[in-house]
Order: sequence, then C-alpha cells, then structure tokens
Amino acid sequence: MKWTLALILTASIFALSALRIATARNSPTTKPAMKQQSPSAQPSAAAACGLDPDAACGSTHWKQKSEAEWRKQLTPEQYRIAREAGTERAFSGKYWNTHTKGAYHCAVCGQPLFSSETKFESGTGWPSFYQPVAKNAVTEHPDESLGMVRTEVQCSQCGAHLGHLFDDGPKPTGLRYCLNSAVLNLVPDPAK
Ligand SMILES: [Zn+2]
Repeated sequence: MKWTLALILTASIFALSALRIATARNSPTTKPAMKQQSPSAQPSAAAACGLDPDAACGSTHWKQKSEAEWRKQLTPEQYRIAREAGTERAFSGKYWNTHTKGAYHCAVCGQPLFSSETKFESGTGWPSFYQPVAKNAVTEHPDESLGMVRTEVQCSQCGAHLGHLFDDGPKPTGLRYCLNSAVLNLVPDPAK
C-alpha cells in the first residue's frame, strides 16, 4: 500500500511538472517567435545602391539582377551579347575602327575594362585589345560552343559576356581580346 501511494505521488509530481512545462510553452506571456520578415522588407543590395552604374557595392548588386531587370536595362542587341554570349556582326559595331583615345568601359555596369592604348588593328572587324586595364577587370572562362575550344571573356563586375580571347595578338602580350562594341562604352580622354 505504501509503495503504491509513493508511486502514485511520484507519478503525479511528474505529470504536474510536465503539465507546467507544457503550459509555459503555450503561455501567451512567453516570447512570441520572431516575426518572419517578408523578402521585400529586407534591404536588398539593389535597393542599397540603386541602379547607378557607379555604385560602390560591386558585383553583388549586378549578380543579383533578374532576367527581367536585365531586359529592361539593356537593348535587345546588348542583351543578346551580354547575357546570351552572342556576337555582333564583324565590321558592324561602333568601335571596330575607332582610334579615339580614351577608356573603354563595360556598357552594362560601367567598370573600366580596356584602354585605347592597347587597342590594335586586328583586321577582324571587332574592336581588339592586347590587354585589359587591370588583370582583374575581366574574367576568362572556357567556351566549347560552336564546336570550337575558345576562351570567353566576361566583365568581372557584372558578368557580361564581352567577347573571346585568342593567343594570336601583337607584342607585348601576344594576346587578342576580341570584343563586341555593343557591350563597350568609350569614355574619351579629356581634350588637352
Ligand atoms: Zn560590367
């Protein structure tokens, strides 16, 4: 009898404490779970720097852009080249035969890419350079499309396809960056 009573007592103490924990959990006085923030409430990189090409937040902003935003920002020709790795017709672009001194910026994000100092006559009908303004201005990617093994060149900031890199360029590098005018923007040197 004694044992049974002790057992019942222990069991009821146990049950009571379990009930207490359960009650505390459901009590309205306990802290409510953190309210989920809606995606629009979170400040995105795009909102932080706007669509200003000179935005200081770098590639994060550009790599977050949706296809719809790209289509809105770019001309159909720029979209086909920058986003779909297209190529403009030879001798059709605005810079293949340009000799103006200045800096060629990415027409998509504004990052300086090539200098007129390194532009040369390649005879291909596309603006050609033997080196970028900085090693990290562009990135290189293997491209095996069209049954060829080529090296694709992209803007390092926004990832826009710029053209291809070949090893038949002039000295001092022996490289030929064969680019599309549509994704470049020449900023002429100020007149002296
Ligand atoms: Zn760019």
